[in-house]
Amino acid sequence: MDVMPVCVLPHSALGLCLSGCRRLSQLAELPDTHQILRQTCRDYAERELIPIASKLDQSHTYPAKQIQELGAMGVMAIEVPEELGGAGMDYLAYSLVMEEISRGCASTGVVVSVNNSLYIGPILKFGTEEQKRQWITPFTTGDKVGCFALSEPGNGSDAGAASTTAHQDGDQWVLNGTKAWITNSWDASATVVFATTDKSLKHKGISAFVIPMPHPGLSLGKKEDKLGIRASSTANIILEDCRIPLDNMLGPRGAGFKIAMQTLDSGRIGIASQALGIAQASLDCAADYAHKRSAFGAPIGKLQAVQFKLADMAVAIESARLLTWKASFLRDAQKPFTKEAAMAKLAASEAATFCSHQAIQVLGGMGYVTDMPAERHYRDARITEIYEGTSEIQRLVIAGQLLKEYQP
Ligand SMILES: Cc1cc2nc3c(=O)[nH]c(=O)nc-3n(C[C@H](O)[C@H](O)[C@H](O)COP(=O)(O)OP(=O)(O)OC[C@H]3O[C@@H](n4cnc5c(N)ncnc54)[C@H](O)[C@@H]3O)c2cc1C
Repeated sequence: MDVMPVCVLPHSALGLCLSGCRRLSQLAELPDTHQILRQTCRDYAERELIPIASKLDQSHTYPAKQIQELGAMGVMAIEVPEELGGAGMDYLAYSLVMEEISRGCASTGVVVSVNNSLYIGPILKFGTEEQKRQWITPFTTGDKVGCFALSEPGNGSDAGAASTTAHQDGDQWVLNGTKAWITNSWDASATVVFATTDKSLKHKGISAFVIPMPHPGLSLGKKEDKLGIRASSTANIILEDCRIPLDNMLGPRGAGFKIAMQTLDSGRIGIASQALGIAQASLDCAADYAHKRSAFGAPIGKLQAVQFKLADMAVAIESARLLTWKASFLRDAQKPFTKEAAMAKLAASEAATFCSHQAIQVLGGMGYVTDMPAERHYRDARITEIYEGTSEIQRLVIAGQLLKEYQP
């Protein structure tokens, strides 16, 4: 197949367009470059992902060919500068890509998201030039993907309570512990790992490392049998006297918690966008069915009860999309965006859960069987309220930021 490379977009043109849309009100209309990118990804998803998403889901198959194609399009390393092999685009572009890819296949979406924001993101921000060349460039093409290992069996939301340890032995770090629920783990060629180098310092004793995969002392647990995003792999990463060079520490010693939290701020924009894609796919499916299905002598789309569902879905999606674009816009403008990213993730993930639920209702019995995509959207939507911070954690982040703003 012919894959249209999105990286043909000149970055300088993108910069010009963005400077023309600095005001939020103008975000309602995307710059031309972003519209082209969005359409390119939409076309790709309709042609290459929608027809196979159900099969990938049912067979739990990692979309290797599609990830390589997306790599060729520049989508696996959107924010990475061109000299390191990336597309050199901004976070608004990343959000648009994530929504369109996830609209086609949410599993493919999470692979793209983890590689871009959770694996490459912290190395791009905190890595040395040598680390960037070693650990980012080979991960820009789709041939290799990375993962991000923060959660542990005993702590997910409470990430500062990491029990995985790293101690120095001569010119090596030696890591021990288990990381839980790691997306991409079975398909990855490297992982960013968080481990404590000084437990007495609590979260300030956590450091970040990069470990190649496979690697002696690193093994994988069983693939989790999940409710949704079943074409992506999720498993424990087990570290038993796993030795890596001292150079594999990312950022300063003790900066791991900060690196993880800043990475998740950005990652939440990706998950918000994944959720938008699932929500939009649910609306697409319901609205199409409302035209085609008749009851009591007329299409069900003529029934006000069905119309109200479609209207509520559209409002939830559009408002979450604007929040997500606002968070991207603030990040691109190098302004604080922690609160907005949490708001976007909260609103978009709840929109995805709501819309996928409503879509099944509009489809009736057909919503409940695998012949139609609505049941997959319903299963895929649920994780967006859990990973990269549950909805409860997003509310804590939002309230924390809000109370700071209201500080007397
Ligand atoms: C499919 C999948 C993929 C994942 N991928 C990754 C990955 O790639 N890398 C990674 O590091 N992790 C990953 N995770 C882990 C995920 O981020 C955690 O599951 C999530 O952060 C929640 O942590 P937990 O499961 O330990 O739940 P817990 O922290 O035990 O939370 C349980 C419940 O208590 C609530 N709760 C906890 N603390 C508070 C609080 N302070 N206030 C209010 N409510 C609270 C939670 O909201 C939740 O409802 C993945 C998980 C899944 C299921």
